[in-house]
Amino acid sequence: MLSTKPNRPVFALADANSFYASCEKVFRPDLRDLPVVVLSNNDGCVIAQSREAKALGIRMAGPWFEVEERAREIGAVAFSSNYELYANMSNRFMATLRQFSPRQEVYSIDECFLDLTGIKRDLIVYGQEIKETVTRWTGLPICVGMGHSKTLAKLANYYAKKQPKLNGVCDFTRISEEELDAVMEKLPVSSIWGIGRRLENSLKALGVANVSRLKHANLRRIRDRFGITMQRTVQELNGEPWLELEEAAPITKQVMSSRSFGQRVESLQELKEAISYHAANAAQRLRKQGLFASAVSVFIQNSPFDQAEFYGRTETVALPAPTECRLQITNAALWLLKKMYKPGVYYLKAGVMLSELVPEKGQQTDLFAYSSSSKKSGRLMETMDHINRKYQRSTIRLASEGVNRTWFMRRGFKSPNYTGEWSELPMAR
Ligand SMILES: [Mg+2]
Repeated sequence: MLSTKPNRPVFALADANSFYASCEKVFRPDLRDLPVVVLSNNDGCVIAQSREAKALGIRMAGPWFEVEERAREIGAVAFSSNYELYANMSNRFMATLRQFSPRQEVYSIDECFLDLTGIKRDLIVYGQEIKETVTRWTGLPICVGMGHSKTLAKLANYYAKKQPKLNGVCDFTRISEEELDAVMEKLPVSSIWGIGRRLENSLKALGVANVSRLKHANLRRIRDRFGITMQRTVQELNGEPWLELEEAAPITKQVMSSRSFGQRVESLQELKEAISYHAANAAQRLRKQGLFASAVSVFIQNSPFDQAEFYGRTETVALPAPTECRLQITNAALWLLKKMYKPGVYYLKAGVMLSELVPEKGQQTDLFAYSSSSKKSGRLMETMDHINRKYQRSTIRLASEGVNRTWFMRRGFKSPNYTGEWSELPMAR
């Protein structure tokens, strides 16, 4: 048996099933059992699919025009990506989870680690409670996996998704080493967090074809051959936690710039300046990592201690094509700000977050939107960054006025922004 020392760390991973497709289904109960796919910006590729769509073999990342006809024949319903809706649903999902643990790491838009160390409850029962509460409050189906390391919690979640009899919750902390090994023998190494196709092939070449084999592999050999990260993965598989809960979001998933104001800010003009500053700052950090953002979020809030009523809002907008362009990002951020600004509030904090990040090379270009990645815009951004580095931040900056909705994109099958626009609230039919 695994030792059950009272304070052995326990991690849970809550992960929404087919997140984008599930968000669409929440508001379209008529599609509950139908295959649903979600398309990338400008309806280019399939980026998400429901369980039913997966079962029908609709290829991920394939160009939509190639599969559209067949997909429609088999009754699949396609949606343009609605990042505003997904971001909002994600916030609800994370807020719901927050009550189940004092420590939470938002790992991605639909995945969240919780620290369950020391929780004196039957973890399966607790996991079911988490799962049912999320589904009741947000409509999203999820799975919960638990283990003595983050890698094990991830793996338990994967297993919960594969094994319907587990009813969406799998706890690796309660089963014996032998039972755990038996489970791991059935799982391919690619089901382990961080092991992709290439590593899988190298491992297979060494005869390491399943998780159990990797778990029992010789640590030194693994380290010599694959480096320290893989060694740590093996240690994590053995229930020796190496990765800690990171309560701040990892930088590669999103780029954030925010700050509390030195003094309370009330006017729209001042907020605009702050948001422009954060947008420029976030865009610069994005470019430093060679990434492009597909969505921009802005948040503003007051302090609950200043005013009787707390006012805090976060809004997200999708960009027409992934961009690193400060101009487009700032315009989008200011447009969001205008939507949520409320006079009479003394704002304490504001910020800009860039998400749905993609590497420069992988980005899809759009013939119809003005190309953010054009050489000209790239050079302009480089020059601005260069001058600002050389002299002083914000030596060159945008006038940040005259906000135009230039980031409209082609989203022929977009669902309404059910949760973000009063005029688009779902109505009884
Ligand atoms: Mg998921």
